[in-house]
Amino acid sequence: MAGTLIASHRGGSLEAPENSPTSFRHTINLAVEQVEFDIHPTADGHIVVIHDATLDRTTNGTGPVAARTLAELRRLTIKGTEADRIMTLPEVIELFRPTGIALRMEVKSDPDHAPYPGLLAHALRLLDAAGMRDRTVVTSFLAPIVAEAVQAPGLLGRIWLVAPVVMDDAGLAGVVATAEAHAIAHVGIRAPRLDARVLAHLRAAGLGVSAWAVNDADSVRRMLDLGIEVFTTDIPTTALTLRAAR
Ligand code: MG
Repeated sequence: MAGTLIASHRGGSLEAPENSPTSFRHTINLAVEQVEFDIHPTADGHIVVIHDATLDRTTNGTGPVAARTLAELRRLTIKGTEADRIMTLPEVIELFRPTGIALRMEVKSDPDHAPYPGLLAHALRLLDAAGMRDRTVVTSFLAPIVAEAVQAPGLLGRIWLVAPVVMDDAGLAGVVATAEAHAIAHVGIRAPRLDARVLAHLRAAGLGVSAWAVNDADSVRRMLDLGIEVFTTDIPTTALTLRAAR
């Protein structure tokens, strides 16, 4: 039994260019349980897999993702690759459907950090078309998006990603209260902020607990020691080696 599950974050972004065909093909060859990726809408009704709300950091394009049509986005190259193109959500779904790897889909917000209207519902329709809803965990930093996912039946999971600034502002009691207000049963904590005390507090409130940004060997060991449900990591190969050594 795997114990703590491992999610390859953006396809393992310290091992391959993030959210790229190269990184996802890399992940397919790993014994991870989940692949994490991020979604944004296009200007013409498609959903693409890219982290930022803007193109500048990870492609040779500029400006908001959602201002471009799919055809325009397809002409761009993902940085760090020869000729990798931005993938659509259905393409990522199809890549992983024949594998045993579950999808961990992060629903992103627009450049002003506001939710895209209807994005989750659209993504669920695409998952359903491939019969993949029950192999998908929906995550978001926006509690209302996670609340929407809680209301959607049949998903593998829903995780509210708690930003450190939220923990600082609201405290653990505030985090628990927000989760309860949205019927959220699972929270994701940034690894440096997750220790035995925080874990015990959240578990005592009945919450499932996972971690994100587990990006060095010491953090991986610490999360395995804590025995949390799952973590995302940019170094999935190292994480798998450390887990297997136990
Ligand atoms: Mg993400």
